[in-house]
Amino acid sequence: MKKTGILGSTGSIGTQTLEIVRNNSDLQVTALAAGSNVKKIEEQIREFSPRLAVLFDEEAARELRLRVADTKTEVLGGMEGLLEIAVMEEMEVLVTAIVGMIGIRPTIAAIEAGKTIALANKETLVTAGHIIMPLAKKNNVSILPVDSEHSAIFQSMHGENKSRVSKILLTASGGPFRGRKKEELADITVEDALKHPNWSMGRKITVDSSTLVNKGLEVIEAKWLFDVPPEKIQVVVHPQSIIHSMVEYVDGGIMAQLGMPDMKLPIQYALFYPDRRPMDGKRVDFFELSSITFEKPDMETFKGLALAYEAIKAGESMPTVYNAANERAVALFLDKKIRFPEIYELIEGAMGNHKAADAPSVEEILGAEAEAYEYINIRYQKMHR
Ligand code: NAD
Ligand code: MG
Repeated sequence: MKKTGILGSTGSIGTQTLEIVRNNSDLQVTALAAGSNVKKIEEQIREFSPRLAVLFDEEAARELRLRVADTKTEVLGGMEGLLEIAVMEEMEVLVTAIVGMIGIRPTIAAIEAGKTIALANKETLVTAGHIIMPLAKKNNVSILPVDSEHSAIFQSMHGENKSRVSKILLTASGGPFRGRKKEELADITVEDALKHPNWSMGRKITVDSSTLVNKGLEVIEAKWLFDVPPEKIQVVVHPQSIIHSMVEYVDGGIMAQLGMPDMKLPIQYALFYPDRRPMDGKRVDFFELSSITFEKPDMETFKGLALAYEAIKAGESMPTVYNAANERAVALFLDKKIRFPEIYELIEGAMGNHKAADAPSVEEILGAEAEAYEYINIRYQKMHR
């Protein structure tokens, strides 16, 4: 029986993880956590009977405690609750499917407690990769990627000598606005940005895909996960999303992982690694597909990617500013308070305002986050006076 905790159980990755639990009787859920969705986590508690459930929102946690008083599940709230899950004695694997930097502390605590991490929460690696990766090594803990591209890279490196990697080819769908020019971005609505051509995902990451910030975050994520410098990570736009990423070796050979765009495969691969379990679903039909195509990313129009490379170059605290400014800007865009191109303006402004330093501590990372938020608040006021 593999005992699993899920941070972010009510979200897109979280609910797909639970689908895999349903289909594999040797997986057991010991803990669930979410932000504030009482109704959904109550349903999950009744179906999966975890020992512990956490809602970050304390008031929602109080309500949940009353609602599931007839069950054996203990309910906690806040960061304290998330940290309690991270160190649960019986848990073996922690799926980190929370959205945002809030994942940093629970992930660190779980690594220190020796738990295997199935990592979806890319913002944690982007901002604290220099802490997470050495800590995992020291504690002999595996960080298994759930992000589809990183899972593809991981699968393409399986059994290979990592020192023989010459390049990572990170594929990107290009998002819903691929092919548009700069002047065509101003009128993009929230509804447009939430229509991803190939993947069904949470709202924030869907907007991030349309700005190419998601790909930028993934370049930084890949740098930490696979210990490759950014100049060896090349983004290739591949609109059909069938090749999930590739690895080129020193002899020119390229290994790739292909499949239908379905997050359940990378989630399941991380949960059973190195085994492969059967999974239902549509298979790639190459005759139906007829062609797969490739393009260079348009980094001038979709600045999200170029800014990520800049952030890496600037120093280890800069990706935090890149990420935090983006989190805030995307929230403003989703609230229809700013226009699409202003997402880039806010990220660029926050990065320009920050003095980068290497090896920031968790406190310094949170400080850089707060600084970026403050910058955006002021800048936003000025924009909309
Ligand atoms: P989502 O918005 O669908 O779900 C987020 C989950 O996190 C929800 O359960 C929410 O309740 C929970 N949450 C939010 N704030 C919280 C807090 N403070 N405390 C506890 N829980 C909190 O997001 P998603 O699309 O599932 O993405 C989750 C993570 O996985 C993100 O980092 C994203 O970049 C990454 N990811 C997602 C996909 C995808 O297909 N959805 C693919 C690759 C990577
Ligand atoms: Mg991805």
